[in-house]
Amino acid sequence: MLDRYGRNITYLRLSVTELCNLRCRYCMPEEGVCKKEHSEMLTEEEIVLAVETAAELGINKLRITGGEPLVKKNIDSICERTAAVPGIREVCITTNGVLLPKLARPLKDAGVRRLNISLDTLDAEKFRYITRLGSLEDVLRGVETALETGFEKIKLNAVLIGGFNEDEIAPLAGLTKRWPVDLRFIELMPMLDSSEFGPEAFIPCERVLQALPELEEQERDGGVARLYRLPGAQGRIGLISPLSSHFCGECNRIRLTADGKLKPCLHGKAEFPIKGLDREGMREQFRTAMLAKPEWHGELSYASRSQAGRNMNTIGG
Ligand code: SAM
Ligand code: SF4
Repeated sequence: MLDRYGRNITYLRLSVTELCNLRCRYCMPEEGVCKKEHSEMLTEEEIVLAVETAAELGINKLRITGGEPLVKKNIDSICERTAAVPGIREVCITTNGVLLPKLARPLKDAGVRRLNISLDTLDAEKFRYITRLGSLEDVLRGVETALETGFEKIKLNAVLIGGFNEDEIAPLAGLTKRWPVDLRFIELMPMLDSSEFGPEAFIPCERVLQALPELEEQERDGGVARLYRLPGAQGRIGLISPLSSHFCGECNRIRLTADGKLKPCLHGKAEFPIKGLDREGMREQFRTAMLAKPEWHGELSYASRSQAGRNMNTIGG
């Protein structure tokens, strides 16, 4: 379906839980989330109905995210059922990778074609610091298992943070030589609880180009990342710059939170509830939300923070 600015909305980002087995400092508070009532969250049946409704309106790509989607008990069933919805051509998952050694195979068998795995640092101590309780070894094992399982595509996501991993641009990019994966650097976004990061943490992706002058520019592939390649590398380097050069003009996404709110824009306040609605009611809300997509999310910077009023784990990054 076209929105008011002529953008064709074909991509649904579906958050299936707010819970997580890590506590990344830029994403959620240390104490975790105040667990909402089970009755507030979408059921599996509602999720499937929402995806069916979205597909009828032209959504063909689904990304399952969270919180950490792999901590959701019925994740394989959600993947299998949503992948089978007519019109859905592709189901992908964004994960922190910790549970992939156990779940990569069942997810692939359930129809998941692509994985994005988050990895901000290759230093075990820094990894523990940024995730507050994670182990780098677990994630590396998760990436290796995913590679062995044979997904169509694996991308690694690194949030670029000044004073934290700016000095690791080269080793992180070097993973595209070691493995057949793309590595994307994403600018740190000023969400609700990322207040412990000062202005120096919000650095532009241009720093990657300065650190790696040997990068060769590649053709864009329809996504939001500017693409490059290290000479001889198996995968590409992507730069995702929501702050320094927003890509709202190309935004084809809509989001559905685990508590059943449609969000036309990641950084906007507007939310449209679908919990408890029947097919017709959901269709109406999807239409309304798509038409409510703003032209752009407005200025985003350390001083001009996201208007979402939520942390990333409760939206689905
Ligand atoms: N738990 C999964 C994971 O970490 O990949 C999926 C959910 S997580 C919210 C999705 C993505 O959002 C991750 O790649 C994470 O690094 C990113 N993210 C979270 N908070 C962010 C922030 N403040 N700025 C930029 N990216 C952020
Ligand atoms: Fe969890 Fe992902 Fe947020 Fe980290 S970024 S706290 S892994 S939801």
